[in-house]
Amino acid sequence: MSAIVTKYYEIKDPNKLPPDTTVIDHYDNTSFIVKQGETLDQLLDRMISHRQEKGHPPITKESLRPFVLTTLIENNNLTQQQVDQYFVPHAALPQFSQAISFAKAFAVEYLHGKAVSIKERRRRAQKCLNCPHHRASGVGARIMNTLSNIVHNTFRDSATYPEETRLGTCGICGCPMQSKVKFSPYSILTSSSPDQLRILPNTLGSKMFTACWIIEDSLKDAKQKALLFGKLSGGNSNMEMLMRNLHNQHVSEQVTKSRVK
Ligand code: SF4
Repeated sequence: MSAIVTKYYEIKDPNKLPPDTTVIDHYDNTSFIVKQGETLDQLLDRMISHRQEKGHPPITKESLRPFVLTTLIENNNLTQQQVDQYFVPHAALPQFSQAISFAKAFAVEYLHGKAVSIKERRRRAQKCLNCPHHRASGVGARIMNTLSNIVHNTFRDSATYPEETRLGTCGICGCPMQSKVKFSPYSILTSSSPDQLRILPNTLGSKMFTACWIIEDSLKDAKQKALLFGKLSGGNSNMEMLMRNLHNQHVSEQVTKSRVK
């Protein structure tokens, strides 16, 4: 996956997509060449049909749309002129539910959490900087980050590291990542809604277990792992089976990788 620090964009005219471009569905790495005259709706339909044919879990157009728009820009190295021609920057204020979720994680973290080492923060930051869901910070995220930093610097430490300034917002939870890399996965999971978390398996498939440090770190602790799977499946047996299958796929991919080494 490429390193991405992009803004949120909206398409100017959904009937006009930039020509000679390709979109990648990170779920299974399938490339879709944008056909001449194809509309955004038609492209999304084509991607959803492909997922259905392959037996992948269903995804709605609304969930796929923002992801497709950003990959359309990122995967095609569009010039700024092309970006301006086809897209408009889209204000990325965190939704009310995202701000509440951050406030909850913040409270759990500073009541019960332990300080995370700088080495670990850097590792997490590098994951975010390479994650397709990472976005540049909007005003709301910057305000949340400043408030969070005041508390962190007062009660824990004010240490910094080179990647910190490049960290923006998580496109899934809307949280400022400069702050969130200092939180434990437990604080994050307890405050995340199942709907937010499910964007990860729906967009990244088994790659979520390595692409997102929150998911990766949650697997290292039995209590956190149970919390993660409970949230993701939400008592739904189909979702539970999907999670089990994706996890098995992830485990066998890791075994194959270690054999190749
Ligand atoms: S928290 Fe996870 S999903 Fe969000 S940007 Fe970082 S790695 Fe990606």
